[in-house]
Amino acid sequence: MLPRAMLIVQKYGGTSVGSIERMQNVAARALATQRAGHDVAVVVSAMSGETNRLLKLTSQLQEDPNDREVDVVVSTGEQVSVGLVALAIRKAGGKARSFLGHQVKIATDSAFSRARIVSIDAGPLKDAMKRGEIAVIAGFQGVDEHGSITTLGRGGSDTTGVAIAAALEADVCEIYTDVDGVYTTDPNVVPNARKVERISYEEMLELASLGAKVLQIRSVELGMKYGVPIHVRSSFSDAPGTWVVPEESQMEQVVVSGVTIARDEAKVTIEDLPDQPGVAAKLFAPLAAGGVVVDMILQNQAWDGTTDMTFTVPQGDRKRAIEILRKEVPDLVGAEGERINFDDEICKVSVVGVGMRSHAGVARKMFELLASERINIQLIATSEIKISCVVARKYGELALRVLHEGFSLHLPPAERANL
Ligand code: ADP
Ligand code: ASP
Ligand code: MG
Repeated sequence: MLPRAMLIVQKYGGTSVGSIERMQNVAARALATQRAGHDVAVVVSAMSGETNRLLKLTSQLQEDPNDREVDVVVSTGEQVSVGLVALAIRKAGGKARSFLGHQVKIATDSAFSRARIVSIDAGPLKDAMKRGEIAVIAGFQGVDEHGSITTLGRGGSDTTGVAIAAALEADVCEIYTDVDGVYTTDPNVVPNARKVERISYEEMLELASLGAKVLQIRSVELGMKYGVPIHVRSSFSDAPGTWVVPEESQMEQVVVSGVTIARDEAKVTIEDLPDQPGVAAKLFAPLAAGGVVVDMILQNQAWDGTTDMTFTVPQGDRKRAIEILRKEVPDLVGAEGERINFDDEICKVSVVGVGMRSHAGVARKMFELLASERINIQLIATSEIKISCVVARKYGELALRVLHEGFSLHLPPAERANL
């Protein structure tokens, strides 16, 4: 029996399109998939390093990336890639057509540098596929209701890939990257990290939001919402990678499935706040109004009618957060902001696993492991399937290694020690 014809979306990251030779490799893979009888749409990122180079140019003239013109510049990396990959497919004997975000069209809101996709018109892609063409779509970019070009945030091509797969009702979205799957932690930091065969959307969502940049968070959200199976794999081999799928019953038996590190947060402390109802609301309202997303929050036990409040924000927003507080609530933070302290030299290490729902003792073990290396914990946050600790940045990688080793994540799940 012939294998069923499928509709496959293949997303290639920066390294996979990093040179003409690699683009020819992408072309060959896409064509081989098409020749096996499947319909193929390809989503590509900018060539590796290109988005960073473009952002460096714009940052010399505009510090705030949330600007229409910044997106006009940083979206161009993907335009180069789609054209070159389409040419590579033609040169290899296939038919291809490139599509920019506005040509698909990928409609987004107007939040420049971090836009969200509102809708996708898959018609032009379907027409191209009917003509036997491979549609090559620019990742990372969209167009808002005023016709302005937008970008979807770092790693946004993953989201383009999954959104296109959802719009086309594809059978799978393959994410081709420079590692051959999702690992128990970043394999570039912990060399004995282990490839995970299958992981639930929910766990992948936590891993992505806690620092595992192999998939952009939003891409996992969309995969979960529209039921798109995501297959993370390497463009340099045919080995199966990691499937991100709905939760399966045996997944709960694995207590901890991964550990992550996030280096992009900063810690802010306000001292001597009055211990009264309404103070937290007053403090956080102007931050929310200013679009600052607060992550962890800790309030100390009151002493003499006053208390301290500590919270974390994205490092890029720390300066602005402090300015907002100085301006909007000087009565709480001091006219010169003298009650505010901050620390940029932090990081957040986390352990994630759906099995934590039914197993006790993960937090205890995590704290013991960090203590065994004399790593001081500054903040703790937990949810049903994760525990996060903020520690000094200089100890971040040591913490990651000790947690990975301590939860025996380098071993197959069945051989891991009990807690
Ligand atoms: P691409 O350019 O293909 O989108 P990214 O650099 O965005 O690739 O993502 C791949 C990188 O994610 C890997 O090189 C790896 O360093 C990093 N990474 C972090 N955590 C993990 C993890 N748990 N599993 C696999 N890769 C991870
Ligand atoms: N080129 C964009 C970036 O570097 C999008 C992506 O690669 O996913 O963030
Ligand atoms: Mg990426």
